[in-house]
Amino acid sequence: MALSNKAECVRVIIRCRPMSEQEVADGRVRVVEMDVKNAMVTVFKGSGGRDATKDFTYDAVYDWNSTQQQIYDETAFSIVESVMEGYNGTIFAYGQTGTGKTYTMVGPDKPPEVRGVIPRAFEHIFNDINVTTDKKFLVRASFLEIYNEEIRDLLSKNPKEKLELKDHTDHGVYVKDLSTFVVKDVSEMRQVMMAGQKNRSVGATLMNIESSRSHSIFTITIESFEVGPDGKSHIRAGKLNMVDLAGSERQSKTGSTGDTLKEATKINLSLSALGHVISALVDSKSPHGFVPYRDSKLTRLLQDSLGGNTKTVMIAQIGPADYNYDETLSTLRYAYRAK
Ligand code: ADP
Ligand code: MG
Repeated sequence: MALSNKAECVRVIIRCRPMSEQEVADGRVRVVEMDVKNAMVTVFKGSGGRDATKDFTYDAVYDWNSTQQQIYDETAFSIVESVMEGYNGTIFAYGQTGTGKTYTMVGPDKPPEVRGVIPRAFEHIFNDINVTTDKKFLVRASFLEIYNEEIRDLLSKNPKEKLELKDHTDHGVYVKDLSTFVVKDVSEMRQVMMAGQKNRSVGATLMNIESSRSHSIFTITIESFEVGPDGKSHIRAGKLNMVDLAGSERQSKTGSTGDTLKEATKINLSLSALGHVISALVDSKSPHGFVPYRDSKLTRLLQDSLGGNTKTVMIAQIGPADYNYDETLSTLRYAYRAK
């Protein structure tokens, strides 16, 4: 029982974005094949032969034709449902800068069909609340980023201030002084998201000037109150974390030096710690194995939402073009270990 639960609580999927207009104009060659039916990804070197092919299987894979609706329905929907029932859940977007992490998590605002996981979760939650008559709900939101192993409140008037992670004997790990807003409807929730999104750290690199060097975590807490047949009131609380991770690319390629290089080391520390935690959770060979939550801020903060009675999905994003071959392969390997 425990074993199978363990294996089911973490899902890993791959999403490959379409070739960009620039890539098409540059005559880039596609080196990725997505076998959606068999949940398999194959990468091959160059345009000529396919000698150096590598393939990997996941819980599901999505190609350039996949829609935002499909990603939501097949990966996020069931997690949000279980959060409404009082469980914790986490959705990660992992991958090299420019592969579509933010597209998947947030997406463009218009038209509504291209909105990503986070705004769709808002609609889902409040639609459910509006049709439920036997329970009362309290919904709260917070939005933070981890940049250089420092925690910043994206909803604060002073977003550059560093916040501390604290350990409370009863309530577990929390961020001291983090702003939390009670949210009544979808439009309030959207305002919270947009306010935080504006405050995200952006560091210019040669590869993509809008490259994000930070991990952002949007957290929605849902408490429900219900009076049972026994006349007693029951309270349940679930927490949904939606995480847009920092770019996973290695630093040599982006030409960063000095401070940015120091940042990169710390960013990759959180990413590798996350990889270790997830692979410890899915490793059925060590059911009572040690899970190294304490190795980074990211994994400490998400400790109560990874493993145990929680659901996790990692959406690993890749690009289709030849010049990203090395990074694509490294993302596929990371995601495979997490599987
Ligand atoms: P990241 O957050 O990983 O750096 P972005 O989400 O900013 O990447 O995506 C990079 C570019 O690719 C953006 O212009 C985005 O609109 C586009 N893009 C990503 N995924 C898709 C997709 N599935 N369909 C269409 N365009 C996409
Ligand atoms: Mg992004």
